[in-house]
Amino acid sequence: MSGYRTHMLIGAVGGLGAYRIAEFIDPSMVTFRLTIGNSAFVVPSLVVGLASAVVSMYMALWPDIDERGSYVSNRAPRYMWLWAALLALCFAVSITQSIGLILLIVAVGAIAGRIGVGLFLYILRIASGGHRHLTHSLVLAMVLFVASAVLFFGGAIPLALPAFALAWGQIMHLIGDVVTPGGVPLFYPISSRDIHLFPYYISRHGELLIGFLSFLAGIFFLWA
Ligand SMILES: [Zn+2]
Repeated sequence: MSGYRTHMLIGAVGGLGAYRIAEFIDPSMVTFRLTIGNSAFVVPSLVVGLASAVVSMYMALWPDIDERGSYVSNRAPRYMWLWAALLALCFAVSITQSIGLILLIVAVGAIAGRIGVGLFLYILRIASGGHRHLTHSLVLAMVLFVASAVLFFGGAIPLALPAFALAWGQIMHLIGDVVTPGGVPLFYPISSRDIHLFPYYISRHGELLIGFLSFLAGIFFLWA
């Protein structure tokens, strides 16, 4: 497994790269307009690019949430209320336009996230079949991608976003782990076999290699 800094670097470069590629293919894909009252604003491209990199950087950490003592599982109890509130917001805006009801649902989500974080982590650790199983499976990432596509084309765009973010973060994370000697069970629960991208004599330097490649890719996406 790679360290959390390597996962964050891969996530940030991945988010920046996705933004730059989308911008190159069709700038309208990454152009967001905000309407406040009678005024409409275009969100500056620098803000969108930076947000893509930062969100992706943190989402790349989540699969290690089932490992006790990991960077993300140490911090999850402190921030789970925020994640729960964001999920509640996505749910609320997809079912109602009432500001009062939206605020109520967000508040309930935040409180549930704060109170239920211990139980949630316990259930997650059991449901994922142990550390580095379901959370490190490409099968789950594909299920989440399909779920986000179904929600998106079904019109529930706010709910498609968290599913896509989880799938994206998982892919970013797996890139950091599949190059290491431990590998990852990419096809769990179909197969529990750990998959290694490289033979051992390369994978023992895998984290350094992927970190360096990510750094180069980051320079390229910044200046290309
Ligand atoms: Zn991991």
